[in-house]
Amino acid sequence: MSALMQAVGIDIGGTKMAVAAVDGQGCVRARLTLPTEAEQGFTRALDRLGAAINQALDACGWSAASLCGIGIGCAGPVDPVGGLINNPYTLSGWDRCDIVTPLRQRFGIPVFLENDADAALLGECFAGAGKACDPVVMLTFGTGVGGAAFVRGGLYRGVNGEHPELGHVPVENTGPACYCGRAGCLESIASGTAIGAAGQAAGYADAREVFRAAKAGQPAARSIVQRALEATASATWTILHALLPQRIILGGGIIEEHYDQFAGAVSGSIAAASMVPRGRVSVARADLGNDAGLLGGASMAFQRSREDHGR
Ligand SMILES: [Zn+2]
Repeated sequence: MSALMQAVGIDIGGTKMAVAAVDGQGCVRARLTLPTEAEQGFTRALDRLGAAINQALDACGWSAASLCGIGIGCAGPVDPVGGLINNPYTLSGWDRCDIVTPLRQRFGIPVFLENDADAALLGECFAGAGKACDPVVMLTFGTGVGGAAFVRGGLYRGVNGEHPELGHVPVENTGPACYCGRAGCLESIASGTAIGAAGQAAGYADAREVFRAAKAGQPAARSIVQRALEATASATWTILHALLPQRIILGGGIIEEHYDQFAGAVSGSIAAASMVPRGRVSVARADLGNDAGLLGGASMAFQRSREDHGR
């Protein structure tokens, strides 16, 4: 893709919003960060985002007319088809808020919306750990366990345009109850919340302390971490055989500190899977950090532009 192609990527989280001017090679040319202040209302945040877009364009001498478009990754749930943010949980009062139409009208260019997990995967496939790989699956281990899949150059979408819920792949028949309605899901064993809860039952303050104690060899902590790793290995087995990805990317707060252990669990399943093409599937660490959503947003605009031009 050419450095002459231009787009704006936006990342909206519960506390911060970031706006970046991104070129076709995935370089961030200008970046602004502003507080979300969701409780001040959606319209106000929209106005501030519009002003930040203008500032980012001014900073690199670009104009809205030269952009392929604007792509937004937002803390979900979102409705990517309707362009609606439906997240009163972490964005107070933002319930069925249309962010696409007003930005499209204001700047006169295409505007795209995805949830943050999908935007992060798009970013990694555009300019990070998933570059030149397809299909790609990304698992994000944080408060929960999120998942997204990239297939044939774009996001895999289920019914209603929604993304798959890979955190709810079952890994134990009699594991902890999950809010999804089943017991023993990957998320109910390997998320930060689950590791923290199991740790508290064994006398540890939180997930961080569980990992620290496991490293020091304490048996109760080691068994909690081991269970999370076995859950990850089992979920990988299912994902491998269901989707045959070329690459599995691991991201999220837990992975930042414990990548080697989780990658070991994933690699073990890959190596043991006789039905999966040998040597063709790999695991990698997410490498864009906080820029993944911004670059993913920009990549949505580039992708549409390529499709429109038949490339
Ligand atoms: Zn579940």
